[in-house]
Amino acid sequence: MDWLRQVHWQIILASVLGLGLGLLLNPYIDWTPEHNTVFQLVDFIGQLFLRGLRFVAVPIVLFSLVGGIGALSNVQKLGRIARRTVLLYIGSTAVAISIGLLLGSILLDGSGIGLDIQQQLQANNSNAVSLKVQQAKAPNVWSTLLNIIPTNPFQAMAEGRMLQVLFFSIALGWGVTQLPERQRQPLVTVFDGLTNVIIQVIQGLMKLAPLAVFCLLLSTGASLGLDVINILARYVTTVLLGLGLLIVGLYPLAIRMFTNRTLSGFFQSIAPAQLLAFSSSSSSATMPVTLECCQDKLNLDKDVSRFVIPLGATINMDGTALYQGVAAMFIAQTCGLDLTFSDQITIVLTATLASIGTAGVPGVGLIMLVVVLESIGLSAEQMTGGLAIIFGVDRLLDMVRTVVNVTGDCTVATIVDHFELPK
Ligand code: ASP
Repeated sequence: MDWLRQVHWQIILASVLGLGLGLLLNPYIDWTPEHNTVFQLVDFIGQLFLRGLRFVAVPIVLFSLVGGIGALSNVQKLGRIARRTVLLYIGSTAVAISIGLLLGSILLDGSGIGLDIQQQLQANNSNAVSLKVQQAKAPNVWSTLLNIIPTNPFQAMAEGRMLQVLFFSIALGWGVTQLPERQRQPLVTVFDGLTNVIIQVIQGLMKLAPLAVFCLLLSTGASLGLDVINILARYVTTVLLGLGLLIVGLYPLAIRMFTNRTLSGFFQSIAPAQLLAFSSSSSSATMPVTLECCQDKLNLDKDVSRFVIPLGATINMDGTALYQGVAAMFIAQTCGLDLTFSDQITIVLTATLASIGTAGVPGVGLIMLVVVLESIGLSAEQMTGGLAIIFGVDRLLDMVRTVVNVTGDCTVATIVDHFELPK
């Protein structure tokens, strides 16, 4: 039973028990936390843990990036890491959507769901969905770029705008490198010290992880149930198959081709982050743990991991992009539209942008899907109807696509780290 002492096994066990129990209970209880003290407590423990993780996200990015970049005697290294990271992020996202579209064109049959079922799903969910359609805004490249620069960095930190916090931290870190040595060194020591303090807090929080994961998945399983999955089995299978292909195909292939690590070592090291991504459906909340796995378990160069991981948690969403590709194709089919080749290219481009604009929190992939649907010419009515059809299964797919998003970040960090090794 020695294995049970390891946190990732405890989290795995807690996930299986929590989800299993939740699904078992689903047919018998109405999981509305407000109505029951036990449900409230379960919900409370899960949310407490997620809040804890969110609360360390901004400080760890700020402290570790300023300390890390400030310590770089060679600023060119940062430029090199940044170029490679962005290239790999965009490349892997485009490959992910293409896999999704390919699988979609072989496996999907959206016109196959009966009209009565479509109408029933639409009637159940269109209220919840029409609000989301209003929330989504198409990302304009220029304003997206401008928005990276905060007009007030303290406001950006207070509001948790990660891309802006990243920009501020990088700028501050660069400023530190420009100081004379006797001023630079103490600043780097202070920021490194603060980073270590936050890492201690994260390690403390992780002690709560198995219980919190159990609670989160119990609550998800109990409110989700399996019924809804049957109706949309083909769509769910296509998305899960695509996500599975990324995890067992694309990423292992990339690790084997571009690094000299073993796959078992790689996956064992990142398991805590993957499990947390599964139970929280949030790559942002998982980010502090992803960073810890990369630094302490994969032993990646700190300059690489503290740049690549926070950036990835904000802009790299391969799983979300693949899902958006499949979902767009499925919804188009339910509206009786057949996607042309140029529609599919449009989906690759807009889903890449939409996934960059997707915040790493639960359910945002569905909101940003509106942008992709708009780009292939769906009307507001068709969009609301289509989203209402897939709404019920979204949480389950969200859990799995978040695991893929986090795995993609770790894969890119490992590859960029390998390129930085002395030859
Ligand atoms: N929940 C996803 C994430 O945090 C985003 C999404 O696809 O909704 O990575």
